[in-house]
Amino acid sequence: MSDIYTESLNKLIEEFEKLPGIGPKTAERLAFHILKAKPAEAMKLAEAIRDVKNKIKRCQICYNLSEGKVCQICSDKRRDKATICIVEQPKDVIALEKTGACKWVYHVLGGHIAPLEGIEPGDLTIERLVKRVRGGDVKEVIMATNPNMAGDGTALYISSLLRKTGVKITRLARGLPTGSTIEYASGKMLTDAIIGRQQLE
Ligand SMILES: [Zn+2]
Repeated sequence: MSDIYTESLNKLIEEFEKLPGIGPKTAERLAFHILKAKPAEAMKLAEAIRDVKNKIKRCQICYNLSEGKVCQICSDKRRDKATICIVEQPKDVIALEKTGACKWVYHVLGGHIAPLEGIEPGDLTIERLVKRVRGGDVKEVIMATNPNMAGDGTALYISSLLRKTGVKITRLARGLPTGSTIEYASGKMLTDAIIGRQQLE
């Protein structure tokens, strides 16, 4: 904290500095930009921040981000509801959707199993997924958890639970570099991994 700014300006700079990828210089520049902006313009930013916190919830079916009870993907009649793609985070849904190769629906786990970090299966939406597969006309479940140890472990755990249901279980192809994440994979890489997905034995 510095005495050269007023208290409010200091606070704003501090908040910007907490954002990922924002250093002190950029935080200062952003704060002065807001200070110079017309009140209505600056308020739009404040309102946008408030809206994402107040309006965005989890879809009741797939746990993706949604402003209604059911997300846009689950409510889309053209989607293939018999194929469920399982991902760790909403950001993975966005990465996969950007490929334009997906006509299926999703199930967002809310993370991966990591006992050392204290994340147990019960902390994720796995139970809800099993119910969903048992209750519906699901034919294929595609494991699109990250291609790293935690993601692989989570996929194996879920497939062991789903095996009894008789549903076909596939995993995105190994074109994705091991240890990488869905979020940062290129669209081309993801499309190849979708097309080349293989059945989990
Ligand atoms: Zn949904």
